[in-house]
Amino acid sequence: MNLSAMQAVLAKIEEAQKIVIFRHKMPDGDAIGSTKGLREILRLSFPEKEIYLNNCDSSDYLEFLGDEDAPQPDEFYADALGIVIDTATAKRISNPRYALCREIVKIDHHIPIESYGATEWVEEERSSSCEMIVQFYDAFKDRLQMTKEAATYLYTGMVTDSGRFRYREVSGDTLRLAAILLDQGIDVDRIYAHLYMKDVSSMRLQAWALSHIKFTASGVAYLYITRDVQEKFGLTFESASAAVSYMDSIKDSLIWLAFIENSDGTIRVRLRSRFVTVSEIAECYGGGGHACAAGATVNNRREMNRLIADADRRLGEYKANNEGWL
Ligand code: AMP
Repeated sequence: MNLSAMQAVLAKIEEAQKIVIFRHKMPDGDAIGSTKGLREILRLSFPEKEIYLNNCDSSDYLEFLGDEDAPQPDEFYADALGIVIDTATAKRISNPRYALCREIVKIDHHIPIESYGATEWVEEERSSSCEMIVQFYDAFKDRLQMTKEAATYLYTGMVTDSGRFRYREVSGDTLRLAAILLDQGIDVDRIYAHLYMKDVSSMRLQAWALSHIKFTASGVAYLYITRDVQEKFGLTFESASAAVSYMDSIKDSLIWLAFIENSDGTIRVRLRSRFVTVSEIAECYGGGGHACAAGATVNNRREMNRLIADADRRLGEYKANNEGWL
């Protein structure tokens, strides 16, 4: 725990009268949960401050967590402290108006690629940004207040980003901090119902996907979901992107990749792995993330094929250098 960085963040919050909280584009449970959770904690703890959450895109899948705030006029930002959570690089920030803020605080758990905040608290070994926000609350609970609502947001982010507390970043601290949220009396059944229930179009995509997964020589599994396929199954871009999880337990395939065609012809890449690091592959294509869960965007099929070849080489090397590689 980096107490001095946390104290610096708290000092910035305490001296600010106006605060706007931001997150990354195409938000996941952690991006939404951490920002909404912090907003609730701060609103309750500092009722005299004006605190907003303003972003430019959202997630259908996480609709159950509710809306964000209406945009503020530009003058508001100019006077405000911006807190950006869960976002490694400035170009990934959902709302470009973050740049109008008088000062930026960055709170993140991704591999640091770029420094963009005057004050930064980054702990890449944390399982989620939500875990960091709960740690922040716990460290300063004499000054901060938690609610059941905030705990619901934060727990959602903790379970989604840690693969339901399965990934290697999950520590004793993760579970101790999750316990603080459970003690708030949150409805875990309801959260999981929202996270697990799928619409029929996603189930049909899954049936299609299982017979369209391709494999490289070293065993990298991959799926390419074109616009045509998305239209055929009546999918949103977000529900098509969920296809990466269909390949997460194939023997031999320690790296798996989903390519989802964007409406402008570029292709979103979702990289996942066990044991083998894939974030460096993502970084070669202008992306990033975590060692075993990363993302990027490629411009065309040629780049997509190059990325597949890079992943194939990486998995081949891993298997060659790790006897009994599983
Ligand atoms: P995703 O496949 O979009 O869920 O991304 C997996 C992880 O990589 C998440 O932690 C993302 O925040 C991160 N990530 C995804 N895309 C990018 C990108 N283009 N640049 C940097 N990080 C990314």
